Amino acid sequence: MSSLLTTEICVVGAGPAGLKAAISARDMGARVAIVDSGVNLGGQLVKQTHKFFGSRGQFAGMRGIDIAKLLSDELFGDPSVDVLSDSQVVGFYDDGTLAIEKDDSIRFLKPERVICATGASERMLPFENNDLPGVYGAGAAQTLMNMYGVKPGNRVLMIGAGNIGLIVSYQLLQAGVSVVAVLEAMPHVGGYHVHARKIQRAGIPILTSHTIKAAHGTEAVEGATVWALDPEFHPIPGSERYFEADTVCLAVGLSPLTELLWQADCKISYVPELGGHTPLRDENYETTRPGVFIAGDLAGIEEASSAMIEGTIAGLSAAKSLGYQTDDFEEKLSRAKAELRTFRQGPTGRKVRQGIAKLMALTEGVRAFD
Ligand SMILES: Cc1cc2nc3c(=O)[nH]c(=O)nc-3n(C[C@H](O)[C@H](O)[C@H](O)COP(=O)(O)OP(=O)(O)OC[C@H]3O[C@@H](n4cnc5c(N)ncnc54)[C@H](O)[C@@H]3O)c2cc1C
Repeated sequence: MSSLLTTEICVVGAGPAGLKAAISARDMGARVAIVDSGVNLGGQLVKQTHKFFGSRGQFAGMRGIDIAKLLSDELFGDPSVDVLSDSQVVGFYDDGTLAIEKDDSIRFLKPERVICATGASERMLPFENNDLPGVYGAGAAQTLMNMYGVKPGNRVLMIGAGNIGLIVSYQLLQAGVSVVAVLEAMPHVGGYHVHARKIQRAGIPILTSHTIKAAHGTEAVEGATVWALDPEFHPIPGSERYFEADTVCLAVGLSPLTELLWQADCKISYVPELGGHTPLRDENYETTRPGVFIAGDLAGIEEASSAMIEGTIAGLSAAKSLGYQTDDFEEKLSRAKAELRTFRQGPTGRKVRQGIAKLMALTEGVRAFD
């Protein structure tokens, strides 16, 4: 067994949330280790070739891949930051020790604080033959294309017209792949209309109130049957249509990746508005286990912009809890919280606001009970 390593703050996950958490904690003076299972830091950002919306403070107008580089460069070479890439945290023990796997060996790290920013996993959909080769999560298809230069197929049927389904459809087109249709179970497109218009202009039909009935093929996907849904989301018999396709991409939502926090015995509740099982946390993103903080999609499915702001709050708060203080701490913390409130204003933020209200009430309940 290798020796036990230590650090003040370990950030698990180097997506936009984790990178910002590490930068903020480091800027407060804390010693930080940031661990990511990917070879490159950046999480989802490294495959996002499109330009971001949002506010200037969260790099609006820049491509995700460039944001990843900018944030990672802030950490590389800094003597107070240890970067452990290609390393997966596989265990979170009762005494706070983390087990980290790299190259088939395990190292143990015992930090004083943990900031978990492990992101999300893609949801599956039940339909006939959903285990055929050629059925992908849209994020997996994006990884193949944008990170490894491999086309997932030649004719894709996309399920889901939220931002991910729309953006990945457009990127498939850019890679020379045909997208035969985008299906959406809701009666309206869920993603930004600017993304929807781009793919409609390219001649791709978006079929709202439709879902997949079955994929067909023997060794791999060769086609799919889709059908229409009534206002109660029941399939309408007789509305079936067949599409020839070698790939079915599922962009039907994400769920917070909570495995490590179950191990850490943090309280977790089912909050559908935030993507499913979500860790309870306070306004500083500290979970019900003192010293364990969260940020990003793990704290509720949202966007890279909000993930970065949450990372900032978690990083500042974790460092503060170790006794670090800077003149601008209060100003930075309240600015970040105000930015989050602004980001979540309006009709697009309603669902997340409702989810957070539920989550905070649940956290309060647990604390009162404790
Ligand atoms: C296809 C697609 C397009 C998107 N487009 C946009 C967009 O245009 N604008 C926008 O704002 N948002 C967009 N998003 C959403 C955005 O990417 C996410 O909200 C954001 O990346 C969440 O950041 P995060 O840091 O929480 O998680 P992630 O970016 O997912 O990073 C989590 C990191 O944790 C690592 N990790 C997980 N578990 C472990 C472990 N046990 N040990 C070590 N490392 C671990 C992962 O490898 C990963 O690198 C898009 C998402 C997708 C899937």
